[in-house]
Parts: sequence; structure tokens; C-alpha cells
Amino acid sequence: MNPTKSYHYQHYTWPEIKELVKRQPVVVLPIGSVEDHGQHLPLDVDNFLITSICEEAAKRLDGEMLLLPPVPYGFEEHHLDFPGTIDIGMEHLLHFVLDITRSVARHGFSRILLADGHGSNMPILDLVARRTVLETDALCAAFIWPSLAREAIEKVRQSQKPGGMAHACELETSVYLYLDGSRVQMEKARKEIGMPASRFIWMDLMSASPVVMMDVWSRFSKSGVVGDPTLASGEKGKVVFEAVVNGLVELVREFKSYERGTRQDMHDGAS
Ligand SMILES: [Zn+2]
Repeated sequence: MNPTKSYHYQHYTWPEIKELVKRQPVVVLPIGSVEDHGQHLPLDVDNFLITSICEEAAKRLDGEMLLLPPVPYGFEEHHLDFPGTIDIGMEHLLHFVLDITRSVARHGFSRILLADGHGSNMPILDLVARRTVLETDALCAAFIWPSLAREAIEKVRQSQKPGGMAHACELETSVYLYLDGSRVQMEKARKEIGMPASRFIWMDLMSASPVVMMDVWSRFSKSGVVGDPTLASGEKGKVVFEAVVNGLVELVREFKSYERGTRQDMHDGAS
């Protein structure tokens, strides 16, 4: 096997894919967004972070993971007041990603992971994973990257909770600074946590609120930030990136051998 293409799904020929299926690597699909991320970060944050994480994990996994080309756009209608954002409608995104997982399952791959870089994709990807399980023979699961390293992130966190780590925040800015500080305009970073205080409704990547609601963003954020990017640093980003990559490596290994029971129709003959 050519090592330079060992983890890129699309670098193989079809006869090679046919052979590869026999080894059952976990197929990973990164999904990001082109979206405003405050005045200090470019539009590519979600794409850049999730693809960097997936690439690094794939390199370390040495053949156990196969990386699909990323889906670079996400569900964004609530962000469209900010120039530059690209929105894919929720039904479109659901069907588009489901068409990809169905295709992968059709070729015989039995483990598919949806690797999300953008919070608002998650409810849709959850449904895609469920439909893939119900409609194909493959097992499919979805995650958003901060969930893979909760402990490590909490250790470096300085911003208030909830609210300090939500969007273009201490967390995303730190990881971007670590991966490519030259594209971050830290002098323009500002803290903004503008959602009304509530016992039930808040936004934070590290702790979901008990009641779920998403308003149009320009109503509660004027900079495009929810969180505190002024506390970000490349050192924190390095710790977080390493922990998330390690988490993904572990997840892929576990998911590859994740056991499934035998399905049985209980209508006939069952007592
Ligand atoms: Zn983001």
C-alpha cells in the first residue's frame, strides 16, 4: 500500500477500494462550515479545525481510518446577517450527507463516523447517523470535536461557564492560534456573551443547556462572537488539539471493533 495515500479515501482506485473494504477501516467524513467567526478569525474556522484534527488522527492510525473529502458547508441560516456566511438548508444538508453515507455503506464499509466542526450541524448529523443505521447495514455515529476531550479542555479553560466557549471563543481561537497564528487577528478579538441570562437556555460547547433554542445570531451578538477569545493562546490550543486527536484515535479504534448484536424479528416464534 502506498503510504502517501494510505488514509485518503479518494486517492485509491476502485479495485484498491474493493480490497480495502476487506480490512474494514473506519470511514470518517469531516463536515465544517464557511461562517463568520468574529472580527478576528477567518470564515474557515470550522473547516480548518475539523480537517486538521481528522488528518492528524488518520496519520497516527496507520490504515485503521479512511478519510473522505470534507463537506465544507453547513446549516447556517441563523448566521446569514454576517457577510460571507454560506448556508445549506437543513433538509439539503441532511440528504446530502445521507447520500454520502449510503454510498459508503453500499461499497461494504460497515463503520462510518461523521466528524463535525460546526455546532448547528449536529442535530442534522445525529439524524443522518440514525437514518444510516436504519437504512443500511453500516453503523454510523456523529460527534463534534470538543466532546472528544472534555477533561483536557476543562483543565485549560479560564472563561466563564456557561458562555465562554461557544463560538469564535477561547476554545476555537486557541486551536486556530496553534495551527496557524498568522491568520488570526488577535488585536480585533473581543469578549461578547450576549445571550440573555437564563436558568434553562445558554450556549456553550462544553455543556449543553437543558432547554434547546437557537435565535438569529445578530439579535444577541454584534461581533459574531459568543465567548471570550481574549483568553485564547496557542499553548492552550496545542493541549486541546493533542487531546482531541488522541480522543479521535481512541474512538476510531473502539468503533472499528464495536460489537453489534444480531437483529431479530420478535413477531414470529418468540416467547
Ligand atoms: Zn466555529
